[in-house]
Amino acid sequence: MGEETNVFYRNPFADYPMVARGEGIYLVDTKGKRYMDACGGAVVSSIGHSVREVVEALKTQLDSCEFAHTSQFTNRPQEALAGLLAELAPGGLNHAYFVSGGSEAVESAIKMARAYWVQMGRPEKWMVIGREQSYHGNTLGALAAGGNPWRRAIYEPMLYQRPRVAPCYCYRCPFKKDPAHCAIECADDLERAILEVGPEKISAFIAEPVVGATAGALVPHDGYFRRIREICDRYDVLLIADEVMTGMGRTGKWFAMRHWGVVPDMLCVAKGLAAGYVPIGATLVHDRIVDTFTNRRNVFQHGHTYMGHPLAAAAGVAVINYIKEHNLVDKSAKMGEELLRRLHEHLDDHPHVGDIRGKGLFAGVEFVADRATREPFEPELGFKQLVGEAAFKLGLIIYPMAGTIDGRRGDHVLIAPPFIITKAQIGRLVELLHKAIDKACD
Ligand code: PLP
Repeated sequence: MGEETNVFYRNPFADYPMVARGEGIYLVDTKGKRYMDACGGAVVSSIGHSVREVVEALKTQLDSCEFAHTSQFTNRPQEALAGLLAELAPGGLNHAYFVSGGSEAVESAIKMARAYWVQMGRPEKWMVIGREQSYHGNTLGALAAGGNPWRRAIYEPMLYQRPRVAPCYCYRCPFKKDPAHCAIECADDLERAILEVGPEKISAFIAEPVVGATAGALVPHDGYFRRIREICDRYDVLLIADEVMTGMGRTGKWFAMRHWGVVPDMLCVAKGLAAGYVPIGATLVHDRIVDTFTNRRNVFQHGHTYMGHPLAAAAGVAVINYIKEHNLVDKSAKMGEELLRRLHEHLDDHPHVGDIRGKGLFAGVEFVADRATREPFEPELGFKQLVGEAAFKLGLIIYPMAGTIDGRRGDHVLIAPPFIITKAQIGRLVELLHKAIDKACD
């Protein structure tokens, strides 16, 4: 670190500027430098920074009650937020289990799936399987279900072993198909994995509707989730949609599963739920799961101190109201098209841009050493990091990430600006990104 600090940073070697304030889609540091926040941190800030209505709602809540434990009280904001989520979520997901973030939401879903099968008299069902190229959080249960080898690596002995399920990665199809001849083999791969372990042991399958943090906005084939739903139903496996990144309007619908009309049994949401104003997450649960918790003996054995926190829930309500009043889900869809159009316009011919993809304001760019062969860069080069650092210097914040390509690290960046971004700002974003990529190539 450049200066003495008592904070243990995730990366102790990075020189972090001190943030002073946020203004719309910008962050400003204490030296006065402005950054366009084109990934909302880690896909969190969906409505932009310092929105007055949300700040006012938080002040009002603080004036009445800052905290009351949910094992003793319910509170108005959490009741209101649960009601709003039931209106917006795919049909039947009428119950919200509130927690403090994405990993907790996934962890709760994993345990709820297990508890459900125990109630149903099937205690042998415990294993949750996920896909390669997925990320569901850093707590041990979520990490075990996920397929990010770099995040799993040193914790591997602490994680249960699960079968590998192919990702929907059309640019590098695991079945070597081109999209024109795709028969959604990656969906059928779930069936293979279930049969490999034995359906009697599998409690749930978890997937991100559009993969975010591990591989840069991988959008599935339109028929993918319908087939996944059929397979899950065939083998009594619950379907958990991890919408921690994609939920709350990010892909141009309130929830990404709505693009395909598929209703999961549980849906995890966080990040955009309170858009960064206060940490919060939730597991949305279908009536048919909740209905099994029928009496005082079979309550769901789980819980966290800050669940249903009034301030966090008040932020969630204010954020949803703001999104509704300003029609921001439609804006996410329209500006998302504009973002993809501009990315293609500027970068389609770039020698080191292999793929551009996404849905709504959730876009990914994959870099390659050679466009013709799709050969990735040498991992030691850390190309995505070079792009991310060059962009940061230019005042643009994007989200670099390492996917896995044939067991090696790949290079992607995620672009997910607040829904209030304008066409002109998208133009500037793409110009700066182009410059950053060119700098990384120097
Ligand atoms: N699930 C997905 C899809 C995510 O992208 C993330 C975080 O990036 C998580 C879960 C974990 O959320 P959190 O970091 O809030 O624990």
